[in-house]
Amino acid sequence: MEKLVQGIHRFQCDVFARNLDFYRKLVDGQQPQALFITCSDSRVVPDIICQTDPGELFVIRNAGNIVPPHTPGNPSGEAATIEYAIKGLGIRNVIVCGHTRCGAMKAVGNPDSTAGMPRVRQWLEHAQAGVEIVCSCYHQLQDEAREKVLIQENVLVQIENLRTHPAVAAALAAGELKIHAWVYKMETGQVFAYDTAVGQFTPLTREGAEAGLAVGHARPIPSRDRTVAEAI
Ligand SMILES: [Zn+2]
Repeated sequence: MEKLVQGIHRFQCDVFARNLDFYRKLVDGQQPQALFITCSDSRVVPDIICQTDPGELFVIRNAGNIVPPHTPGNPSGEAATIEYAIKGLGIRNVIVCGHTRCGAMKAVGNPDSTAGMPRVRQWLEHAQAGVEIVCSCYHQLQDEAREKVLIQENVLVQIENLRTHPAVAAALAAGELKIHAWVYKMETGQVFAYDTAVGQFTPLTREGAEAGLAVGHARPIPSRDRTVAEAI
C-alpha cells in the first residue's frame, strides 16, 4: 500500500496543486465524451490508452468487458450505468473494448480454471455465446488463435447485449448514438476497431472512430475461411 499512499501525496502536491483551475472546473460537473466499457484487468487503463483527462471518459469495468443483457425487474450495475450515461449525461458514443491476454476470456475457454469460484463462473456465462460462436465457426483454430478470436467475438456479443438496453435501443433508433467495437492489443499498444465493411477488426483510424458501427448492422456470420485479424 505504500506506493499508493506515496502516489496520493504526489498527486496532491504535484498534479492537483499545479492544475487547480482544471480540477476546480470539474467540481461543477462532468460532460464525458464517451462511455468506455472494458475489462477490470489492471493493465488496461482507458485514460492512458486514449490519453484522456479526468472528466472525459465515463467508464464501466468488469471481468471480461461484459454487458449483461437487459433483464426487466432486475437491473445490473451495468444497466443502471449505461442508462445514466445515455439519459443522464447525454453520451453519444459507447465503446466496448476487449483486450489481448484477457484472463477472463482464457477462463471462459477453460472452465477448469474457475473451479472454486462459482460467482466468476456464473458471471462468465455472459460470454458463452462467444464461446459457442468460436466452436461452431472457428474450429480449425487452435490455442492462441482461438483465444484471440474469442476476445473479438466476445466484444461483438457484448455489443449485441448492449443493444437490448432500452436507453441504447432508443438512442440508436433516434440516430443519437454510435457504438464502437474495439480490441486493445497489449503487446503493441494498438487499438483495433471492428469494421463492418470487411467483417474484421482493423487498426483504428480517425474515420473509423468517427463512424462507429453502422446503425442496426447485423454482425456478419463469420465464414470458416474468414481470416482472424492476424495483426491482433
Ligand atoms: Zn480482461
